[in-house]
Amino acid sequence: MKIVIFGPPGSGKGTYASRLTQRLGIPHISTGDLVRDEIRNKTKLGKTVEKYSSSGTLVPDEIITEILTKRLGAGLSNGFILEGYPRTVKQAKELEKIMKVDVVVNLNVPDKVIVERLSARLQCKSCGAIYNERTLKPKITGKCDKCGGELFRRVDDQPEVIQERLKVYREASEPVIGFYRSRNLLKDIRNEDPNVDPETVVDQIMKTIRA
Ligand code: AMP
Repeated sequence: MKIVIFGPPGSGKGTYASRLTQRLGIPHISTGDLVRDEIRNKTKLGKTVEKYSSSGTLVPDEIITEILTKRLGAGLSNGFILEGYPRTVKQAKELEKIMKVDVVVNLNVPDKVIVERLSARLQCKSCGAIYNERTLKPKITGKCDKCGGELFRRVDDQPEVIQERLKVYREASEPVIGFYRSRNLLKDIRNEDPNVDPETVVDQIMKTIRA
């Protein structure tokens, strides 16, 4: 199954996508992680995309599509969970040319919950696992439960950058919802409770995509 997880920054896309990967046994592709890998590996592409990523603005469509296409080329015939792409209608049209997706899960989360979540988010430097200082604490402070890696706060999770990312989402990304609704691929998930157990939301997503 080819699944897109769509939603504003801080809606839990990465958290749910990584859990769905385990349940469904198909890979999780996050364009945000691909961008951070390019930056960490100091590639030419990484140097180009760093300024966008750190300021919370979008990497230009052609560059992010190039990064994604490179990853999609690596044998994904059993399906995948794509997270963080598309983020513009242009990208949605590009994806349609590359391959057909089966379902788009749209996470609806109020801004208040988003800001609360992002300002408490921590991520593992080694395996990318996501934690939350309030709702999803690691067993040992500062260390990843899964691999023992060091936890860090993303540069784009600073308050001013969060506001910029929300603005970019409203202007550039929200129209993607209409694009997929018109193609009958959209499934809405509502999540208004900041303290909800991620597994409960994943159960809800599983039920929705199987309906
Ligand atoms: P994320 O981890 O999904 O929030 O992505 C982190 C950053 O990577 C974003 O703020 C953008 O700068 C960049 N990025 C990731 N995916 C895309 C995309 N589909 N289009 C444009 N920029 C992207």
